[in-house]
Amino acid sequence: MQSYEKLLLENKAWAEEVRDRDPGYFDRLAAAQKPEFLWIGCSDSRVPADIIVNARPGAVFAHRNIANQVIATDFNCLSVIQYAVQVLKVPHIIVCGHYNCGGVRAALDRQRPDLPLLNKWLMHIKDTYRAHRDEIDALNSETERANRLAELNVIEQVIRLSQFSIVQSAWQEQQRPTLHGWVFRLDDGLLHQLVTLPPGSDVDVIYQQRRGQDS
Ligand SMILES: [Zn+2]
Repeated sequence: MQSYEKLLLENKAWAEEVRDRDPGYFDRLAAAQKPEFLWIGCSDSRVPADIIVNARPGAVFAHRNIANQVIATDFNCLSVIQYAVQVLKVPHIIVCGHYNCGGVRAALDRQRPDLPLLNKWLMHIKDTYRAHRDEIDALNSETERANRLAELNVIEQVIRLSQFSIVQSAWQEQQRPTLHGWVFRLDDGLLHQLVTLPPGSDVDVIYQQRRGQDS
C-alpha cells in the first residue's frame, strides 16, 4: 500500500468511529463553524495544532507557515486574520512557535543559494535576531540560541498582530481578541505561555490607527 492510501483508509476509519460514537456529529459540523481560536503556527509536522491541544474539528481556525510568522505584506496570513477577526469574531488569537524550529535555526545561518525564496521568508527572523543579538549571543550553545530566538520570534509576531488595524479596530469596538504567544516543547509535548496582550494593550504610537480611518 502507498503511504497516501493509508491516509485515505485512516480517514474512513476515523469518520466511521466518530459517527458510531455521535451519529449527529457530521451534520452539526457541516452546518457552521464557530471556532473560538485563531491559531498561527509553524508548518512543522510535529506541531499539529488540533492534536496538541486535544481539540475537535470546529474548535481551531488555523494558519500555518514556516516559523509561524505574521508578515504585514503576506495576504495569505492577513486574509486569515481578517476573516477570523471580522467574520468569525474569534475571542483569541494564538501564535505558537516551537523549540528546535528548522526555520529559526536556518535564520541563524548563512543564506542557502539553492533556496532563494526561503531566504527571503527567513529575513524577518534574522531581523529579530539582529534586534536581540547581545542577549542571544550571550547564550552558551547553538541550541539555546535557536530556542531563545524561537521565543523572541513568537513575541515579535504577537506584537505585530497588535499593530494591525484589523486588531486595533476589534479591540476598540468589541474588546477582543486577546493575543497569546506560546511555544511548544517537542521533547515533553507541553506548551508554555510567553506573552499575553489583552484588548487595549499599549501599541507604539507610530503603529496606532488614526480615529475614523482604516488602512
Ligand atoms: Zn518550525
